[in-house]
Amino acid sequence: MAEKDDTLKKVISHSKEYGFVFQSSEIYDGLSATYDYGQYGSELKNNIKKYWWMSMVQMHENIVGIDAAIFMHPTTWKASGHIDAFNDPLIDNKDSKKRYRADVLIEDYIAKIEGKINKDITKAKKRFGDDFNETEFRNTNPNVTRRQEQINDVNTRMADALNSDDLENVRQLIIDLGIKCAVSGTANWTEVRQFNLMFGTELGSVSGESATIYLRPETAQGIFVNYLNVQKTSRMKLPFGIAQIGKAFRNEIVARQFIFRMREFEQMEMQFFIKPGTQMEWYQYWKNTRMKWHNALGFGEDNYRFHDHIKLAHYADAACDIEFNYPMGFKELEGIHSRTDFDLGAHQEHSKKNLTYFDSETNERYLPYVLETSIGLDRMFLSVLTKSYAEETLKDGSSRVVLRIPPALAPVKVAIFPLTKKDGLPEKARAIMHKIKLDHNCQYEEKDAIGKRYRRQDAIGTPFCITVDHETLENNTITIRERDSMKQERVDINDLAQIISSKVSISNLINQE
Ligand code: ATP
Repeated sequence: MAEKDDTLKKVISHSKEYGFVFQSSEIYDGLSATYDYGQYGSELKNNIKKYWWMSMVQMHENIVGIDAAIFMHPTTWKASGHIDAFNDPLIDNKDSKKRYRADVLIEDYIAKIEGKINKDITKAKKRFGDDFNETEFRNTNPNVTRRQEQINDVNTRMADALNSDDLENVRQLIIDLGIKCAVSGTANWTEVRQFNLMFGTELGSVSGESATIYLRPETAQGIFVNYLNVQKTSRMKLPFGIAQIGKAFRNEIVARQFIFRMREFEQMEMQFFIKPGTQMEWYQYWKNTRMKWHNALGFGEDNYRFHDHIKLAHYADAACDIEFNYPMGFKELEGIHSRTDFDLGAHQEHSKKNLTYFDSETNERYLPYVLETSIGLDRMFLSVLTKSYAEETLKDGSSRVVLRIPPALAPVKVAIFPLTKKDGLPEKARAIMHKIKLDHNCQYEEKDAIGKRYRRQDAIGTPFCITVDHETLENNTITIRERDSMKQERVDINDLAQIISSKVSISNLINQE
């Protein structure tokens, strides 16, 4: 655990030192749970967006993208259920005054038991070697089965209490489990209360004419209210999808773990409109498709897992998360939800507009069902950064910090160095860069020894460094150095564009889908 926490700390300070992520309004001591993306962070973020948008919109003939406003008519949030039900159960410790999400306290308790099970499994794996059968061990080892029963029991009690909005029982469960505040070490808990996560503000400047509107807590509703506009203007037939990338705002009770949980963040959502009754088929399809999208990055399949929801949201008839193995453990990265016709039905009722779809194949009118994939851009960013970060000792005994960001997502693709600042090398290097920058984000550097320049580029994850030397002037060749292997190769300048493009293009990731 200590080692894991360390990685997050290192990534946070590396992000700041190298211009990936800064705390918002830092000169005023910052604003909690709000962050700004710096010069390399915004490039990485844009590349993640490109990868998502390309795989959703460009690669699917039946998915189009939109960009809806953040502010929406207040009735939207009544219809969606957010005004009445977008709550988190909060609980305070009376001694430390620290506030917690009650469900998270219980989930952390479960995670500890899971940790013990995993320890037992690791030990047994070592003992039995190749003969080890994990499923059998899980089903038969008395320690593991007892712990698993305990987890199931806690899960059931929590789901029952939350689903029936029985907050007293949620508190009782925390007490029964002996959960204590990490700060005071006591179990002196307040009642559990529901807390609405939406940020409200006033619309209009004339007193008496204002109305409370909300900063959207999810991008999805902008898609639902536009579904017919899009369907009609693009003459789409079911099944079809609408994709969107945009900001969302939630007044999180406990915002922590860097950019994992923020009060202002970005979502990449796709709502797929389907014929009622086909939702389980599409649920499977999108689960597979999204998992492939993640795996194409090459961080290793072990770092992702599905987690089925026990407590279904008010709109869902099936739901799961794709969890990622962050330094602080497996946590939700993306949600996949079968939302039925809950949203379109509610908007139809509240707007009094007919939102049904005419199915020309069956001559029927009905409200489509919706299958949703919703991923947090910032959480995706954090997953990429934490798995790319590496500290290495090199053969000569020196060390380097390298971000092994998949080349297609790297903020800078190519760095170009003249070996020295004289003899026409800078001019030649700039001439090469002039051409490459039409296609790729490049950086020119002539200060310091080449080794130091390599280290700086490794630290921001640049996949290729090119050195222009005296031989370049003679035979038009340059040295290209690859980030991960650190191998250097002499190549003809005319081959450069092709070599780089073949490695850094986002299509490399898409082709593997
Ligand atoms: P959590 O259980 O972690 O609060 P959620 O289930 O409420 O998340 P959804 O409503 O399904 O999240 O939102 C879809 C995605 O948006 C999440 O999978 C996550 O990646 C992202 N997301 C949600 N809340 C935040 C936040 N406060 N900060 C950053 N990303 C977030």
